[in-house]
Amino acid sequence: DTARVPERPRKAEVSGPRPQGLKELEGFRQLQMLEQAGAAIGLGSPYFRLHEGHAQSRSQIAGAEVLNFGSYDYLGLNADPRPRQAAMSALERYGVSASGSRMVSGTRPVHLALEEALARHYHCEAALSFVSGHATNVSLIPTLMEERDLVLSDAFVHNSVSTGMALSAAARRSFPHNDMDALERILENHRPLHRHVLIVVEGLYSMDGDLPDLPRLLALRDRYDAWLMVDEAHALGPVGASGRGVFEHFGIDPAEVDIWMGTLSKTLASTGGYVAGSKDLIRYLKARAPGHVFSVALPPCLAASAAEALRLLAREPGRAAQLQTLGAHFLEKARDLGLDCGAAVGSGVLPVMIGDSALATKLSERLLAAGVNVAPVTFPGVPMGSARLRFFLSSDHRPEDIDRALEATRDCLDQLEAEGFTRLLGAA
Ligand code: PMP
Repeated sequence: DTARVPERPRKAEVSGPRPQGLKELEGFRQLQMLEQAGAAIGLGSPYFRLHEGHAQSRSQIAGAEVLNFGSYDYLGLNADPRPRQAAMSALERYGVSASGSRMVSGTRPVHLALEEALARHYHCEAALSFVSGHATNVSLIPTLMEERDLVLSDAFVHNSVSTGMALSAAARRSFPHNDMDALERILENHRPLHRHVLIVVEGLYSMDGDLPDLPRLLALRDRYDAWLMVDEAHALGPVGASGRGVFEHFGIDPAEVDIWMGTLSKTLASTGGYVAGSKDLIRYLKARAPGHVFSVALPPCLAASAAEALRLLAREPGRAAQLQTLGAHFLEKARDLGLDCGAAVGSGVLPVMIGDSALATKLSERLLAAGVNVAPVTFPGVPMGSARLRFFLSSDHRPEDIDRALEATRDCLDQLEAEGFTRLLGAA
């Protein structure tokens, strides 16, 4: 019987480091294969680069100062002294850790202040913070969606959403990226079969830097009696004239959306996640979402810095305007150099499409040597053949930084072509 699991060696025969059997894992084998293929053509890893100091629009890597396009400090608030000062005051007052879940002993006035500010931002009744953005989605979706329900997500949603969907007892489906007709067809066919339907999209897509069609999504939500959830991780700060998010871009009252989710780790210069919505939704999550009930509260100092960053976002709209000017400049410069930014709208996330994963990796290595830090996104992070360099812009970048980075990208690509690297890939 060939389908039988092969017998494993008995304990006494097993040697080598524990745990045994990792090589039997599909993911482990894929990782090894990618590493071996990379090594065969002289590629090092472009990830886990050590930033030796404060990573801002410039950073220090291996002793050298580089232009940094790898950090998502969209509005430069991680470089601003005020959120840091707020964190330090809270640190002095409340200590480093909350030393307990919110339910037990972890709640401090700074958590409540942050949540009130988030609820005000989204014109919602209430909001709730979590200790991690990733854990927010992983915890929220299975808590909300039960067996008789259906979750529909855009094909490009973040791993935290797809993991949350996989852990939910609800049925799940994804629709092609931003394809509202395809979404409508699914709703037409499947809505009658389920009790609740949740549609999940992102406010600014983290790999492609494009936006969802929020007005159409709201219309579909209404027509098919569904719930709409928007993950604003990358949209808060970069999107909307003053950076308030995707609702501002479309001129929509945020109270129209059922569930806002976001992270504190990007524009808000902190760590953690949040959900904003109705009083009942938040009351339910506070009591039932495992990532809230069974996990420690956000450290008070990080709640304080996020609240201060959110205050600055509202008070200093020039930061978002500056970021958008830089984004438009990036698109124009890339076009002049013959570089392809796909569907990006020219906000904080700007991909430069490369295609082959090995080429994108090699290019990132060359760019680092030329003084530019930008990470490639390669398979399996994006589908095979759609690898890219992903530039995160900050309002602290200067137009000259963008020019230098894109000119270096063009030069390094041309060099690799001249050296026959692309032919090497074709032969591999
Ligand atoms: N949602 C999206 C769309 C993200 O891109 C990310 C992280 N990049 C998360 C959620 C998770 O957020 P965090 O990194 O703050 O845990």
